[in-house]
Amino acid sequence: TLRLRVAPIDGGGRVEGAVGLVEDITEQRRVEQMRRDFVANVSHELRTPLTSLRGFLQAIREGVVTDPREIGRYLGVMHGETMRLIRLVNSLLDLSRIEGGQVQLHRQALALAPVVEDVLVSMHPRMEENALRVETDIPQDLPAVWADRDRLDQILINLLENAVRYAGREGQVRVAARSLGDAVVVAVEDTGPGIPAEELPYVWDRFYKVDKARTADGSGTGLGLVIVRQLVELHGGRAWAESQPGQGSRFFFSLPQAQGQEETGPVSA
Ligand code: ADP
Repeated sequence: TLRLRVAPIDGGGRVEGAVGLVEDITEQRRVEQMRRDFVANVSHELRTPLTSLRGFLQAIREGVVTDPREIGRYLGVMHGETMRLIRLVNSLLDLSRIEGGQVQLHRQALALAPVVEDVLVSMHPRMEENALRVETDIPQDLPAVWADRDRLDQILINLLENAVRYAGREGQVRVAARSLGDAVVVAVEDTGPGIPAEELPYVWDRFYKVDKARTADGSGTGLGLVIVRQLVELHGGRAWAESQPGQGSRFFFSLPQAQGQEETGPVSA
């Protein structure tokens, strides 16, 4: 869409001519639309748990439920909804910091295997609870990556949380890594329901959820993968996914290899 702006040149009461300015407002409109969509989505995502909290609170306050056990159950749900709100707000803050260029990477040469190991240990209880099998395939001689430790943790946690959530009970999760050119490519795979091809590109969009009903615990924020991609790209890498419905999903990301930097404490990026 092109817009023509015309301003008359005033010659003392007489219009002597006009200057025109042609501008492309398609991009401007698109950005405005995206901002509106984003605000609408955030509002919706915040309102859902809040509405549920209000309902449960009301039921307790008005004495609709009196059985202590029932009240206990309600409080459990309310706790879950509160945690979800906290996660959502934290993710929104993360995203805004990353997009505002406020995240500085403190890169160091990192061996991937121990980082993956630590993240898996932190998730062990949840995996155990779901009787998940976990496998890692990281070659001993894999080159170190040039990455920010905390951000790499966050990338892995977001991908592994999805893998665990979608793999379902007794599923399998696998983390593999390979050297490719001057990068290291990491794959996080699960044996979950997979993602239909036509939906696959959109999982990287804010608040996109393939099937709202499927995230049984409703714990998703729809922001995890957005943050993964932004953090990976901040490192100069790429993030992508492959999936076939019924065959599980594979999420990949690449990171630059460390080039001769010592595998030591943090050094400036
Ligand atoms: P969420 O917090 O909802 O998981 P994400 O940004 O992490 O948000 O993921 C966006 C959507 O992509 C999810 O809601 C889900 O529909 C889909 N998705 C992500 N990871 C997987 C996976 N491992 N298996 C199947 N679907 C997935």
